[in-house]
Amino acid sequence: MFSYRHAFHAGNHADVLKHTVLIATLDHLLEKEAALTVVDTHAGAGLYRLDGDYAGTSGEAADGVLRLLSDSKAPASPAESAKPAIKKAAPEAAAPLADAIARYLSVIGDFNPKGGARVYPGSPFIVQHLLRDHDKLKLFELHPTDARTLDANIAQLEAGRQIAVLRDDGFGSATKFLPPPSRRALVLMDPSYEMKTDYGRVLDFMAEALKRFATGTYAVWYPIIPRPEAHDLPRRLKTMATKAGKPWLHATLTVKSSKITKDAASGETHRPGLPASGMFLINPPYTLKPLLAAALPQLVERLGQDRNAAFSLDSGG
Ligand code: SAM
Repeated sequence: MFSYRHAFHAGNHADVLKHTVLIATLDHLLEKEAALTVVDTHAGAGLYRLDGDYAGTSGEAADGVLRLLSDSKAPASPAESAKPAIKKAAPEAAAPLADAIARYLSVIGDFNPKGGARVYPGSPFIVQHLLRDHDKLKLFELHPTDARTLDANIAQLEAGRQIAVLRDDGFGSATKFLPPPSRRALVLMDPSYEMKTDYGRVLDFMAEALKRFATGTYAVWYPIIPRPEAHDLPRRLKTMATKAGKPWLHATLTVKSSKITKDAASGETHRPGLPASGMFLINPPYTLKPLLAAALPQLVERLGQDRNAAFSLDSGG
């Protein structure tokens, strides 16, 4: 247990999907004046350096936010625009960037005033950046090292009682904040799925959360990997939402094949790493689907690594 460290994965394609959805959802929820409580059940360390040892080792951000940034920036000069693209030509150079992607990149840009993405904000910092003074943020993180780092990162914000960091089990105790006094909440559930019991715990949490607070907005991230529990999770969330009579939205982004390949010459097997992930929302903002309908094809085009790259977007209720 607890070998997962988000620092190795920060800014990868899954973070791009998750944080694009998170920002678009928050933007809508924050249009109303009444206070919003955000509960982040699996917060991570909060802030990451993409030029640091962890991110450098895995290089996952290179195929995520960094690729999106380099594909999205306007060429600085005719000389630069004439340079050959490293991976592939900038897609549909003339097409404007979808609003949700532009908004995601502008939030990342707020943390990197000199450009690029040396600093990558995790969900706690993205949320805190967007919240207003009267909103609240509850952060759960169980890994001792990440919880300490999160504490130290959050302390620098001097946000006082607006933010609570809890070194506690997000599955086990985050429902205690539901419903919040203002009866407006967004719950982000982003486990590491290091243990396959996490899938069942997501479902148990959601069943309890919907019982306590059926009108909250819930956003669950999950990996799409060859494991029955991973395929069952969105199906079971959909059944849960439908039975509760609540609207839902399901978005997935696949960037490459999930096949394990063998190098003919060396005989070495190659595991592809995370090929795809999904976000499942219950009570999503009505604005989210059109935003994602425009953004997901562009994410496929810009982050896709082979011909298996694809997206899906479905909703109901
Ligand atoms: N939400 C973060 C973001 O978007 O920046 C990333 C979170 S990362 C995928 C999952 C985190 O959950 C890890 O830091 C892990 O240590 C933590 N974790 C694992 N089990 C937990 C539990 N039961 N309760 C709270 N945190 C847990």
